[in-house]
Amino acid sequence: MLSRTVKDTIIEYVSEKNVLFDEDLSKHTSFKIGGPADAFVEIESIEQLTKLSEYLDRVEEKYYILGNGSNTLFSDRGYEGVILHIGGGFSGITVSGIRIIAKAGAALAKVSKTAQEHSLTGLEFAAGIPGTVGGGVVMNAGAYGGEMSFVVDTVKAISPKGEEIELENKSLEFGYRYSILRHRGYVVTEVSFNLKEGDKDEIRARMDDFNSRRREKQPLEYPSAGSVFKRPEGHFAGQLIMEAGMRGFQIGGARVSDKHCGFIINTGHASAEDVTELIDEIQFRVRDRFGILLEPEIEIVR
Ligand SMILES: Cc1cc2nc3c(=O)[nH]c(=O)nc-3n(C[C@H](O)[C@H](O)[C@H](O)COP(=O)(O)OP(=O)(O)OC[C@H]3O[C@@H](n4cnc5c(N)ncnc54)[C@H](O)[C@@H]3O)c2cc1C
Repeated sequence: MLSRTVKDTIIEYVSEKNVLFDEDLSKHTSFKIGGPADAFVEIESIEQLTKLSEYLDRVEEKYYILGNGSNTLFSDRGYEGVILHIGGGFSGITVSGIRIIAKAGAALAKVSKTAQEHSLTGLEFAAGIPGTVGGGVVMNAGAYGGEMSFVVDTVKAISPKGEEIELENKSLEFGYRYSILRHRGYVVTEVSFNLKEGDKDEIRARMDDFNSRRREKQPLEYPSAGSVFKRPEGHFAGQLIMEAGMRGFQIGGARVSDKHCGFIINTGHASAEDVTELIDEIQFRVRDRFGILLEPEIEIVR
């Protein structure tokens, strides 16, 4: 529980309209799961972000950076601390030649569409990824042979010491669903993409193709967080899960998707506990059958 002083200071830094107390996190995650956060703050500027994170560090209150919540599972108990939401309030996109500069809260789909409108190719893969630029670069999001590391030029971020820094692509140590940003506590504020000139109609056609493949293969009609597990080397997580006989396997309201076994869907009233129990069961059965430990790709915030 936050003290009155902490609550008042948050409001003073970001204005009352941008703060929600005891806000249900199920409203802010694609899983539609998660109990209340002590405070949920809509960030609109770097200044707000630095002042607030510095203050919360000083008074020893926990905080969590959230983008679109499309890769995150919060606990049913919620989050004891402050969610700093980097979304629509921090989402400007500018185009300069073959470069696109996007604030961290911009939707990947919107950046991808902006690139297409300016006949710039390279971001088609991101058209159907329901995350933000910040969440995407941190996770090195990717699909259909593309990934953020191929198109990111530089990243502006706030370091754990509160300094504004700029990092070049090669210093981000991108790997499969990995960048150093993820584990070193950097908060991404802006990303500069380096793209190539292309044909507007061909770019549009590629985006449409990727999106129709998604609709065909993925259970987009249900709340989920996309693929739950990382791809183990030489295998596909969904296929291993299917071969372990778990298609449609359900715990509470959480179910292995019948359409794509790599997805866990919320059939209506799944709790975070249902999902984590299902993850444990999948890991157990797949390991038992194939000797492979599936590692979660989603961020589980306990
Ligand atoms: C239907 C569906 C399909 C999906 N398809 C794909 C896919 O094809 N490929 C793929 O890679 N992923 C996919 N995902 C997963 C997800 O959309 C991506 O991982 C996305 O990049 C997450 O972005 P986000 O803004 O939602 O991140 P969040 O879930 O909000 O956060 C994820 C992590 O990033 C951190 N974070 C967020 N913003 C920042 C920031 N500004 N600075 C520092 N840290 C930050 C959070 O603290 C957290 O650790 C899919 C998800 C769904 C629901």
